[in-house]
Amino acid sequence: MDSRLRGNDSREKKEIMNKKTIRDVDVQGKKVLVRVDFNVPLRDGVVADDGRIQAALPTINYLLDNGAALILCTHLGRPKSPADTQFALDPVAARLSELIHRPVQKMDEVVGDSVTAAAAKLGAGEVMLLENTRFEAGEKKNDPALAAKLAALADVYVNDAFGTAHRAHASTEGVARAMDGAAVAGFLMGKELEALGTAVSNPAHPYIAIMGGAKISDKIKLIDNLLGVADKILIGGGMANTFLRAMGYELGSSLVEADALAEAQRLLEQAPDRLILPVDVVVALEFKADAPATAVSAQNIPADQMALDIGPDTLTLFADALNGAKLVIWNGPMGVFEFPAFAKGTNALAQMLATAVDAGTEVIIGGGDSAAAVKNAGLSSKMSHVSTGGGASLELLEGKTLPGIAALDDKS
Ligand code: ADP
Ligand code: MG
Repeated sequence: MDSRLRGNDSREKKEIMNKKTIRDVDVQGKKVLVRVDFNVPLRDGVVADDGRIQAALPTINYLLDNGAALILCTHLGRPKSPADTQFALDPVAARLSELIHRPVQKMDEVVGDSVTAAAAKLGAGEVMLLENTRFEAGEKKNDPALAAKLAALADVYVNDAFGTAHRAHASTEGVARAMDGAAVAGFLMGKELEALGTAVSNPAHPYIAIMGGAKISDKIKLIDNLLGVADKILIGGGMANTFLRAMGYELGSSLVEADALAEAQRLLEQAPDRLILPVDVVVALEFKADAPATAVSAQNIPADQMALDIGPDTLTLFADALNGAKLVIWNGPMGVFEFPAFAKGTNALAQMLATAVDAGTEVIIGGGDSAAAVKNAGLSSKMSHVSTGGGASLELLEGKTLPGIAALDDKS
C-alpha cells in the first residue's frame, strides 16, 4: 500500500477512534441530553418495530444506573411543521416507558419554557423525551440558537444516533459544539466507530471488501477508498455490469451505467489484480419476480437478457478469495435480492460469511439494503457487526469525516 494512503489513514484514525464515550465522563447527579435514533415506524398510533429503541437501551440503562437525569431527543420521519402531528413522539414515549419500566415524561416542545422548567426539575433516574426535533425549523439548518437552547438543558451531551451522524443538524452537530460540558459517544455509536473505524484506519489483513448494489456511480469514492486499504475487492450486483462492459463484454439488456464506464476503466487499470469480477451471472428476459432465471458465462450474456444475480462459478471464485481473510467488509447485494429467484447469490454469500465468522474472520456489513439482505437471509446475528447506519456507514467507509462524530470530545 502506498505511503500517501497510509498518511490519510492515520488522520482518519485520530478523528474516528479517539472520541470520548460515556465511560469517560462522570454522570452521577448530572443532567444528560442523549440524541438517540428513535426514527421508528408507527402504525395505528403505536410503534410497529421497536428495534431502534431497543438498540439504545444499553446507553439509557447505563446512564440511569449511574445516577443521571435523562433528557432524550430524536427525530421521527420528515415532518414539515409541528402541525404534522402524526410525527409526534407520544407512541415512542409509551413504548420506551414499557421497555425501561419507568415513567417517561413526554414534552410537547423541543425547546421552550415548558422544557426548560421540566429539565430543571428532573432528578436522577428520571427520564424525559423532547418532542420530534424536526418540528423545529432550526434542526436541519443546524441553527446555532436551537443548538444553544438544547445545550443549555444539560451538563453532558451524548450522541448515540449513528444513523444521523453524517448530517450536521442542531441536535447532532450544533449542540455538541455548543456544550459547555462534555459531548461524548454512547455505546451504540461507540460500537459503530470501533467496527467501521478499524476497517477504515487499522484493518487486519488479509482484508477483503465485497461491493455490490445497483450502481457504481454511487460508490466510486467508496471503491477508491477501499482500494487504499483492502487487499482485494470482490464485485457483484448491478455495479459489476458496468465493469464487465468496460472490459469489453456484451451485457445484453442489463443495467449498465454509460456515464460511469470511464471511471470503471480507470479502476480496472489502477488495480487489475485486486478487483475480482463475476465470471458468470444469472440472467432473465425481464426484471420480474417470476422471470425464468438461467446462469450463463459473463462472456456469453444473450442480447435480449439482463444480469440480475451472480452465478455459481462466481460464488466459488469469491469463496477462494475469502479463504483465510481476517477482515471482510460487505456493502451492496449481489443481485436483485428482493426477488427470491435472484437472491441466491446474496444469500449464498451471506451464508459463506457466517461460516467465515465461525472460523474467526471479522465480518462487517454496511449499507441499508445490505443490512436488509442479511436480515432477509436470517443471518444478521451471525455477523460480527451489522451497521445501523445506512448512509452514515458508507460515508464513514468512504473516509469522510462525519460532522456528528467530529463534534464530540477527543480523548486527548
Ligand atoms: P446498500 O443500501 O446496501 O448500499 P444499494 O442501495 O447500493 O445497497 O443496492 C441495493 C439495490 O441494488 C437492491 O435494490 C438490488 O435490487 C439492486 N441490485 C443488485 N444487483 C442488481 C442488478 N444486477 N441489477 C439491478 N439491480 C440490482
Ligand atoms: Mg441502498
